[in-house]
Amino acid sequence: MLKSNNGIYSFKDGPIEIHFTTRQYPVIKSEKQYESIIKNILPEYTAIYTTKQIHSSIINITRGKGFYMGDGLVTKCSNEVLAIFTADCYPIVIYSLNPPLISLVHAGWKGIYRGIIPNTVNIMKNNFKLGELKAFTGPGICKKCYSVGENMKNYFSSVYFSKIDDSLCLDLKSVISTQLKEAGITDIIHSGFCTVCNNDQFYSYRAENKTNNRILTFAYIKKKVQ
Ligand SMILES: [Zn+2]
Repeated sequence: MLKSNNGIYSFKDGPIEIHFTTRQYPVIKSEKQYESIIKNILPEYTAIYTTKQIHSSIINITRGKGFYMGDGLVTKCSNEVLAIFTADCYPIVIYSLNPPLISLVHAGWKGIYRGIIPNTVNIMKNNFKLGELKAFTGPGICKKCYSVGENMKNYFSSVYFSKIDDSLCLDLKSVISTQLKEAGITDIIHSGFCTVCNNDQFYSYRAENKTNNRILTFAYIKKKVQ
């Protein structure tokens, strides 16, 4: 269940914890800023991993501190925090409870078209032991608010488009759900938030004139206290 406390939404499932920030936290990609937010929630974290988000389908397995290029991160190590930044694109967490394994993905239309979802699942399956996979999606732009050009029909099936007030709109969340299901994941929880409809709570790149502010989503496997 999704819970809100002090401007941060949290979702927990067993040892898996997912958090995302609201406008109370005007996060730009500054290390100091996101470190302090994460430290407040998980003071015992061992490392924070981010990537240079490039709308790709590249996933990185965490391997110590360093520079990661791509749009997704995977770890099996507890208390290692994965973090991404979005404003309209969707943060997606794919995880296994037993044994615990977690991935966090930055998914806009380009990354989704390029296959970031199946890539993440394949990397998880090919490199780790895992149980049944589940997924969680955070706030992103909804099918009523995401107006796109006709050229987008070159990338996605016509079933994902609708005409709203003469605009062509793309239902990115449905594309995500379909791709997750095609990858064998049926247990999918959506936050239900749209960055534009719920702009009073979340940043939107489109609705706010290309704002630099981002929603910080971070996820980890919480270490059991013995
Ligand atoms: Zn909306």
